[in-house]
Amino acid sequence: MHLPAFSLNPLVRHSVEHPADALERHRNEPGTAHLLIAGDIPILRAGEPGTALLDAAGLSRAGELFEDVFLGTLEGRPVVATLASPSAADLYRDDPGFTVTDLRSVAVRGLVPPEELGLLATAKSVLDWHRRHRFCAVCGTRTVPAQSGFRRDCGSCGAQHFPRTDPVVIMLVARGEFCLLGRQSRFLPGMYSCLAGFLEPAETIEDAVRRETFEEAGVRVGAVRYHSSQPWPFPSSLMIGCIAEATSEELNVDREELEDARWFSRDEVKLMLAGRHPAGLSAPQPIAIAHHLLRAWCYAESP
Ligand SMILES: [Zn+2]
Repeated sequence: MHLPAFSLNPLVRHSVEHPADALERHRNEPGTAHLLIAGDIPILRAGEPGTALLDAAGLSRAGELFEDVFLGTLEGRPVVATLASPSAADLYRDDPGFTVTDLRSVAVRGLVPPEELGLLATAKSVLDWHRRHRFCAVCGTRTVPAQSGFRRDCGSCGAQHFPRTDPVVIMLVARGEFCLLGRQSRFLPGMYSCLAGFLEPAETIEDAVRRETFEEAGVRVGAVRYHSSQPWPFPSSLMIGCIAEATSEELNVDREELEDARWFSRDEVKLMLAGRHPAGLSAPQPIAIAHHLLRAWCYAESP
């Protein structure tokens, strides 16, 4: 069974144990693998499949480089992620040796091997954090990168800032042979998916599942079981997939959040997953954890 996109990640992460000069040492080594993100667009070597791992020559035409981060090693090879300006993407776009497209499309179209999606997710999330955390959240002074790119330090008040991950619960809410799915207006026409929402401060995963389901659909939830998780680097979410038992059925849909929500039978969801629903309704693609939660419920699959 395929895993959701960005879940496979062969990187050996030893950033914390690494000396602070690891980035300095590996940045210009000939054997280093470079991941290049221009704004939020990854630059790939074209091929069947292509690769996100560039050599120094591939990196060299990006023009001015901003932050870089030593991510760890890949079979002993150092991996450095580098941020270039959004306009740097144009310097690669017309060269058939490169592929320039957004990370979601890279995943959907399978433009790199699945395990490289995990590397790209790491690079994109941590570089995006650098891009948006240039100033100290405590005192407002400009911060500087430290610990090979996994920290930013404030020279004025001494605060240390670390990359963030934003937890999101996503849940398959079921009652007997039926499950609750909703759609947002931005979804492809006819597509329904699991409900989801950000955790609030000091909230358990279970309570977030119950709160979001009640707020969005008016349905009460009892037992909540963890299924699996998926990094979602847009920019730095972690999708926490759960399967939950509804204890009520009546719907009260929040039309601000959802265009529609309703109960679907297991047989109907199987047709949606297979792309054979008589009314043309569909489920999310296999890159998304929602697809795997639906499959788990339909076919009793384990992660
Ligand atoms: Zn400060």
